[in-house]
Parts: sequence; C-alpha cells; structure tokens
Amino acid sequence: MIIAANLKTNLTRHDTASYIEEVDKCAKQSNQEVFVFPAISSLDSFSAEKVEVGTQNAYPTVNGAFTGEIGLEQLEEFGIKTILIGHSERRHILGETQEFIAKKFAYFKEQGFTIVYCVGEPKEKREAGKEAMMEYISAQYEGIDTSYEKLIIAYEPVWAIGTGLTPTLEDIEDIHTELKQKSSAPLLYGGSVKVTNAKEVLSLKNVDGILVGSAALYAEHFCTMIQYA
Ligand code: PGA
Repeated sequence: MIIAANLKTNLTRHDTASYIEEVDKCAKQSNQEVFVFPAISSLDSFSAEKVEVGTQNAYPTVNGAFTGEIGLEQLEEFGIKTILIGHSERRHILGETQEFIAKKFAYFKEQGFTIVYCVGEPKEKREAGKEAMMEYISAQYEGIDTSYEKLIIAYEPVWAIGTGLTPTLEDIEDIHTELKQKSSAPLLYGGSVKVTNAKEVLSLKNVDGILVGSAALYAEHFCTMIQYA
C-alpha cells in the first residue's frame, strides 16, 4: 500500500521536521510505502530513512525567470525526486490547465521523478451522471503517459477534498475499477480520508493506497492510517 500525506500550506519548518521524524519512525515499522508532501519551504527540513519526501509543486524548468516557482535545480539541491502533479487546488485555485499539467508531467517524467498524479471531478460533474463524470476525468488523462513506470495516480473527487464528504465505498470501488482500465499504475483514493474511514477505504478492491490532507496533519493520526494499511 502507498500512504501519502499532503500537508499543503500547513506546518512550519520546525513542525515539519518533527512531523517527518515521527512519521518515519512508524513508517519503518510497516511494510508500506510512505510519502509526505510538505510545504516547499520545508523541503530540506527533514531527515528520513523510510519516508519519501516529495514536492507539492515545481515548474518544468531547470531554473529561469518564473517568479514564485521552484525548478529542478532547487529540488535537486534537496534530493527531491517525487512530485505531486494535477492536484485539484492547483487546477482550480491556481488555474493550471490540462495542457500545462501535461507539460509538467512530461518534464518531470523525463527527469525520472516519481509522479503522484491527481484526477477527480467537481460536484456538478458528479451530479450530471456517470457518463459526464467519466468524460471529465478522462480529459484529465490527456497528454499523460499512463504507462510511466514511476507513476502513481490519485483519484480525488474535488467535492470530497477538505469537506468531510466522501463517495460511498461502492462508488469508490466502481470508479477505481474504471480508472484501472486507463492505467495499471497504483491508484490511491483521496478526499476526506480520516482515521475513522481509512481502514474501509484501504480494504476496497483496486484501491492501492490513500492520499490524505487535513487528517494527516497530526503525525499520530497519519501513523494510525499507516498501521491500518
Ligand atoms: P483532504 O485533502 O484529506 O483534506 O480532503 C486531500 C488532498 O487534497 O489531497
């Protein structure tokens, strides 16, 4: 199983260092693959043996004039080889288009990064019926090499992120089964996963792990989810 924490714009460098230290301890006691995506300012504030630390974002460039972004040169300095691409907050709040996301994907694939690639539909697409929903999600696979060997996909319904709402377990299993036909890459579920539902989600067919936001902010809770896997 792959258990991943997306810390978003939370925790200071100081807090991230102790967070990763604690998570590393419990990760070492498990056989699971554990990823943590801290804020960019904390990318060098850890020492981890088992936890794989990745960046929540980067610009597809070695360096250059891209104000506010970081590039390959800065990631390499910290030994970062894992990136989150296509997260709904970057798509919807930061306005990243599928075209740009595909460009980012191609660049970091070329650099041999492990890519955790997120897809998922907003509420109105879910309400429009399964066909419209699957069509929307399929468009998020455009320009993406679904056979890349270091690819991990995360299905995260936008309406479930940070809201406490989740699809039913049957729905998760159903969508995961469909998405597995598009790519045999490990497929995580994300969106309001917490200690109370992680076990059930992890037991579903075609769910290869979880990507957790808010409920992962406490190392103790995240460790409990690692133990469930
Ligand atoms: P959440 O976020 O667990 O807070 O819903 C998940 C994510 O955005 O990856």
